[in-house]
Amino acid sequence: MAVPQNKITRSRRNMRRSHDALVAGNPAECPNCGELKRPHHVCGACGHYDDREVVAQAEEIDLDEDAA
Ligand SMILES: [Zn+2]
Repeated sequence: MAVPQNKITRSRRNMRRSHDALVAGNPAECPNCGELKRPHHVCGACGHYDDREVVAQAEEIDLDEDAA
């Protein structure tokens, strides 16, 4: 098994990990419904992109219907 020849110091290890942090997304408001959406992606809430509907949305889904 390969064994590291030299100890990686806390400093070097942490320097390597300085780029590992997760970064927050850059959500933008949908011009149609106002929901936050990812830039350059179809809106997940209303299916619009560039002010027109590109993904047809199902009619109102009532999730409580089965539970009752
Ligand atoms: Zn939308």
